[in-house]
Amino acid sequence: MIPLHRAPRLGYANGTPNPKVRVMGCAGIVLAVVHPDGIDRRLSPLFTVPEFGERAGGGGKRSTGFGKRGSGGQSMNVQVEGIVLRGVDYGETHRIVTLLTPEIGKVGAMARGAKRPQSRLRALVQPLVRGTFSLAYRGQGMAIIRQGQWLEGYRAIQEDLWKHAYAGYAAELVDRFVEEATPNPGVYEFFRQWLEALAAGKDAEILTRLFELHVCEWAGVRPLLDRCAGCGAAVGYARMFDLSGGGPLCDRCLDLRRGIPIRPQTCAVMRALQSVPVNRLGDIRVGPDTRRELADLLGAYLEHHTGARLRGREYIRRLREYAWPGPLDGAGGDLV
Ligand SMILES: [Zn+2]
Repeated sequence: MIPLHRAPRLGYANGTPNPKVRVMGCAGIVLAVVHPDGIDRRLSPLFTVPEFGERAGGGGKRSTGFGKRGSGGQSMNVQVEGIVLRGVDYGETHRIVTLLTPEIGKVGAMARGAKRPQSRLRALVQPLVRGTFSLAYRGQGMAIIRQGQWLEGYRAIQEDLWKHAYAGYAAELVDRFVEEATPNPGVYEFFRQWLEALAAGKDAEILTRLFELHVCEWAGVRPLLDRCAGCGAAVGYARMFDLSGGGPLCDRCLDLRRGIPIRPQTCAVMRALQSVPVNRLGDIRVGPDTRRELADLLGAYLEHHTGARLRGREYIRRLREYAWPGPLDGAGGDLV
C-alpha cells in the first residue's frame, strides 16, 4: 500500500490531531486511514481494509459487503480476481497460496481442505490458475479462501515443459519484486497478458526477456540502453555492458570501466523489447547466440542489482544443460 501523504490534521479515531495518522491508497483513491493502533474502516463504503502494515498478506480489499464485528475481532469478506503465483501445503489438508490481484496486489491466503480430492477449491489453488476468490478476514489472521470461481488454467502452459518453466520463472519474479498489499492493476494486467501470449504460442524466450526488462523497471533499475553508462555519450553499436552502471559502454570508456562483452544485436533486441507492449509483441527473429547472451545478461543484471538468487533461472539453465529439446533447437543460424 502506498502512503499518499501524512495527514496530521486528520484525527479519525477520536477527532483529535494525530501526527502518526497516515492516509493510504493509490491512484487518487483513498483506501484507508491508518492509525498507530489500528485502521479506520469507515472511510470508504467501497473499500475496506482488514489490516495493514508489517504483517505479510495484509492489505486494502475491495469489499463485497460491510464487515461485521465478531467476538474474535473484526471480520469481513472481499471478492477479488487473482492469479495464483505459488502455493505450499499446510498440514494434511490445507494449502497456502500467494495471489496476485489488481486491487490489492500480492496477498497470501489459506484454502482450508483444498488438498481433499472432493474439495471445490482444489483446482482453484494450483499455480498459474486465474480465478475469482472470496476472501474472508477475521481479526489479524491470514485471509481464508471461502469459495471461488476458476476462470483460466492456461492449459497450453501447464502441458509444455518449457512454457511451464518460463511461466514459473515469471511467477517467481512477480513474487519477489512486487510488493505485498500494494494495489497495482498495471502489473496484474501485464502478467495476465504475458501468460496469454505464452499460452498462445508466442516465443517463450523472447517473452521472458521482455518480462525481465519489466521487472527491472519494477525494481527501479531500468537499464538505459542508448547511452554510455560511463560518460553518457550516445551508443549505437554496443560491445560492452556495464552491469553496475546499467548500460552499454562507449569505445572511449571501454578501458576505464569493467564491462562484459556483448554483441551489438543483444543491446538492439533489449532496446526493442523495452518499448513494445506485451500484447503487441510480434515475431522477433533472434538467433541462438543472441538468445543465450540476452538470457545470461539480463539474469546477471537482475541478480547483480537485487541480490536475488533466481531459482527459476537456474531451473531453466539445467533444463538446457541436460539437452532437453528446447526452443533453441532448430532455430537455425543467428538471425539478429
Ligand atoms: Zn562512455
